[in-house]
Amino acid sequence: MPSIFTRIVAGEVPCHRVYEDEHVIAFLDIAPLSRGHVLVVPKEERERLHELSPQSAEALGRALRAVAAAVVKATGCADYNVLQNNGTAAHQAVMHVHFHVIPKEPGGAGLGLKWDAGTAGPGAAELAERIRAAITPA
Ligand code: AMP
Repeated sequence: MPSIFTRIVAGEVPCHRVYEDEHVIAFLDIAPLSRGHVLVVPKEERERLHELSPQSAEALGRALRAVAAAVVKATGCADYNVLQNNGTAAHQAVMHVHFHVIPKEPGGAGLGLKWDAGTAGPGAAELAERIRAAITPA
């Protein structure tokens, strides 16, 4: 079954569209955390970021930059968060890749964060090497 975002791309479900190109669509979030909360969505239907084709990922990066600039200009909010969730444990509710652009208002509306930071620790060099070895060039 197509995702709700694929149905938006197909025009079957309405949205407040702010941007569209061959690979990407962006529209207002239906339940915004702040005024101007936009979702930037690849038309390619994939669940997680790393599953996207290079073409789709490239287009998404370009669109994200353009949409973020437009949101700043249109809302007057200089500060904003970009959020992208992968998997239900990471708070993904719609299983089709999407980036949130969320203005952070001076009064506080926007993304709330609890950031329980740890320390890099003695295994950091080995971990970095494992990730380096696992990289597949884009
Ligand atoms: P996430 O938790 O990252 O999967 O977020 C999914 C987002 O999609 C939520 O912020 C929802 O409010 C938003 N959303 C779900 N359905 C729609 C829709 N039909 N139009 C616009 N936004 C939607």
